[in-house]
Amino acid sequence: MVNTEIHKEIPAFAGIRNYINGVYIHPIQDNWIDNYNPSNGVVYGKIPNSSKEDVENAYIAAKSAFPSWSQTTLEERSRILIKISELLEANLQRFAEAESKDNGKPVSLAKKVDIPRAASNFRFFGNAITQFASESHESVGQDAINFTLRQPIGVVACISPWNLPLYLFTWKIAPAIAAGNCVIAKPSEITPMTAYLLGDICTKAGLPNGVLNIVHGLGTTTGQAIIEHRDIKAISFTGGTATGAHIAKVAAPLFKKLSLELGGKNPNIIFADCDYEDMLNTTIRSSFANQGQICLCGSRIFVEASIYAKFKNDFVTRVKALKVGHPSKASTNIGALVSNSHLEKVMNYIEIAKAENATILCGGKKVVVKDYENGYYIEPTVIEVTSNNCRVNQEEIFGPVVTIMPFESEDGVLEMANSVNYGLSATLWTNDLKRTMRMSNQLQTGIVWVNTWMMRDLRTPFGGVKASGVGREGGFEALRFFTEAKNVCIKY
Ligand code: NDP
Repeated sequence: MVNTEIHKEIPAFAGIRNYINGVYIHPIQDNWIDNYNPSNGVVYGKIPNSSKEDVENAYIAAKSAFPSWSQTTLEERSRILIKISELLEANLQRFAEAESKDNGKPVSLAKKVDIPRAASNFRFFGNAITQFASESHESVGQDAINFTLRQPIGVVACISPWNLPLYLFTWKIAPAIAAGNCVIAKPSEITPMTAYLLGDICTKAGLPNGVLNIVHGLGTTTGQAIIEHRDIKAISFTGGTATGAHIAKVAAPLFKKLSLELGGKNPNIIFADCDYEDMLNTTIRSSFANQGQICLCGSRIFVEASIYAKFKNDFVTRVKALKVGHPSKASTNIGALVSNSHLEKVMNYIEIAKAENATILCGGKKVVVKDYENGYYIEPTVIEVTSNNCRVNQEEIFGPVVTIMPFESEDGVLEMANSVNYGLSATLWTNDLKRTMRMSNQLQTGIVWVNTWMMRDLRTPFGGVKASGVGREGGFEALRFFTEAKNVCIKY
């Protein structure tokens, strides 16, 4: 039986509750975690640290909504997803402010990127499901025809990180429910607010109770209960590589289907023949957008030796001009890091760089922002390294910190770009088509951007190789992940 203690009124920033079976409810064990505002270091709310019982409650709700949800027409599912998208757009300001308050990112960024993209996720998969077709194969000479049924899996889990909270949460939920599954979703405990607000939007859009259930809590308690649940048959996870490896270990003996989108240490390779100004502007963005806390940020910058001195001077000048400040200010380029422990982790990497005899070209220090002295701010930092083998070039820092170093040859830079455990994305700046093709073929990453960065078309496959993950999301890849293919062979 689902616990139904209902909170009918949901003031925007009151305490967060789990969203189970279409209503907001307390965690069964009344266990709560503090929620911090990174811009001033103040606790501004509580969120449930949900237990196994809460996850079971969510599972019961999801199970009872399935299979009826999977039997709704594609048009009906599509209509509801598009309605969710419209309601998110109608609440853009409220969601953007909530995201910024939870995460520390500039409100302007949340308003321009995070929330519109969350809305696009629902609109895109609302449309994509109506175009999702399966295959048939005529067995010529055998009087038989095969066709593939694409069946929803049942109850699935979506677990997401704190860096792009609603953007990544909905990137998983939208295809999962579009494909007819019922979902148990857990946002990061550090950034729960927009996931919390999403529940209400889904109810208003007419999503039947139990189709989406949102449980809040720590990875080690709530997340662990989800991944260990025997009847949750698939997990779509985005987060750190170590957590991904742990999930794979737990899920393997239970034969769960897994999609793992993990960390990155992405090369940004700049050849002398590139469009220089375009490259410089985009490299500022690919290095420091969202305080460098994007898995796709180009954190290792390799520059062809002939333009290295010029690039170093121009880049550092531009980085020094970036304004670190409170996320609500329009003038802010770099907001707060997500948490104090993350700030300390990033600062520690700056010490590691110094110990490895790298040169801090700019930044490297914490910033005290007037009136927000306890916020988690750091200067955008550029480190000049002499080898790709140093720790700051090999380990994911996930903050506003990039390294730069020169290269002499295409083969040499390719070797350095690939000499890392990760393989999420690479950026290439060149106007040489043959080189573009040679490099794109040989870079060991799931994504290559040429003369651009983070340009996303939601139809394209998204994911990494090596320690950056297993599987692809995006477009029909996501709908394939959230369905099981069953072949039917008919002899006539
Ligand atoms: P984590 O791996 O720490 O956490 C991700 C999510 O997993 C959170 O909701 C977390 O809960 C949860 N979790 C933690 N432990 C467990 C567990 N034992 N069982 C189930 N769930 C668990 O990552 P971060 O939140 O720190 O996010 C940053 C990382 O995400 C970076 O490495 C970044 O590269 C990666 N990332 C990858 C992307 C990609 O597409 N490849 C995109 C964006 C980020 P909680 O935090 O509440 O404890």
